[in-house]
Amino acid sequence: MNIIQLKKLSYDEVAKCNRCGFCLPSCPTYIIKGKEAYSPRGRNAITRFAIENKLELDENTEKAIFTCLGCGACTAVCLSSVQTKDLIFQNRECQVDVGFYPKVAERLVRTLEDSHNISDDDQEDRAEWQELIKELPEDAFEKEKAEVVFFVGCVASFFPMVQKIPANMASIMQRAGVDFTILGGDEWCCGFPLIGAGMPEKLAAMKEHNLKKVADAGAGTIVFTCPSCYHTWKHFYETEARLMHASQFIAELIRDGKIVLDKEVKATATYHDPCDLGRNSGIFEEPREVIKAVPGLNFVELPMNRKFSVCCGGGGNVEMTDPDVSARVAQMKLDSVKGVGAELVITGCQQCVRTMGTRAKRGKIDIQIKDLTELVMDAMS
Ligand code: SF4
Ligand code: SF4
Repeated sequence: MNIIQLKKLSYDEVAKCNRCGFCLPSCPTYIIKGKEAYSPRGRNAITRFAIENKLELDENTEKAIFTCLGCGACTAVCLSSVQTKDLIFQNRECQVDVGFYPKVAERLVRTLEDSHNISDDDQEDRAEWQELIKELPEDAFEKEKAEVVFFVGCVASFFPMVQKIPANMASIMQRAGVDFTILGGDEWCCGFPLIGAGMPEKLAAMKEHNLKKVADAGAGTIVFTCPSCYHTWKHFYETEARLMHASQFIAELIRDGKIVLDKEVKATATYHDPCDLGRNSGIFEEPREVIKAVPGLNFVELPMNRKFSVCCGGGGNVEMTDPDVSARVAQMKLDSVKGVGAELVITGCQQCVRTMGTRAKRGKIDIQIKDLTELVMDAMS
């Protein structure tokens, strides 16, 4: 019996793919690589043929399967609604079982198990971003009990380029009088990178730990600035707490009059829907609601927006496994921003800020990338 059958991968699901090719122009990796194996249809064929014992998984299937960004754009346009991203991620589990997976994933697993974060940093430095806060309260946002837990996530905690995201979010909540806490060194990686690595079963310890810490704080709401943490908690954690992405939380603060956006921001700006926030979590309108509340901003939509948004290049662990593909997808994204005449891209994800920001810097492209939290801070006097 083929390994894929052992994993009980849904044959019915992959058999729904009628090979029409309608998804091909929507797949960023197919556009970049121009090869069938790097398209949704090609990847579905790999999965199907493996289930049918017509194909052995090997280093070639490894490359095709692990270069998928997990963006889900293929499903958004597929008339048969084939869940290609889910099939590809299940296929990754099978690739792992037979030993054909990017070896960088082994280092990732070791790091997560030993250091509890993706970058092998000291957990004590998780709240380093607080140095960016002008008026840090005495408790440094670390309370024993609070109504809200702000779950910061690894990337925004440890990567200097995006540490202003948690600093801005904490400042917004502070100014709105929200009773919130962070977990500091007790926050562990949510485990999202393991899902993309084809090792979701290794999530258990992280899940148990984080759930306990939130329960200890007695919080009824958890707020995330990272869409992937939000998505992981929503789909892989079992909790009664209200899970909210920062854009939803901020939109509510504006509606309730807890914060006022009264300072003009003069710019032509567009919004990039992060895949894990938009298409993969269904949150499209709240970020736009917040952006439209900013006075002075000239807002323009990208031609491919909401569920048809194009990935920034930062998904699916591809930045780690094939940085060239990641950078070229980011370039495509920035080209589309230029096409609508925007000088500023707002998004709701630290990974998108990093991917597009790095590309803009390296390519000397005159486009600013900001997280929603930064825009909100700019608009508060
Ligand atoms: S995934 Fe959907 S759109 Fe793509 S080839 Fe298969 S049936 Fe057609
Ligand atoms: S999830 Fe994205 S990168 Fe992966 S096959 Fe679908 S469109 Fe292509």
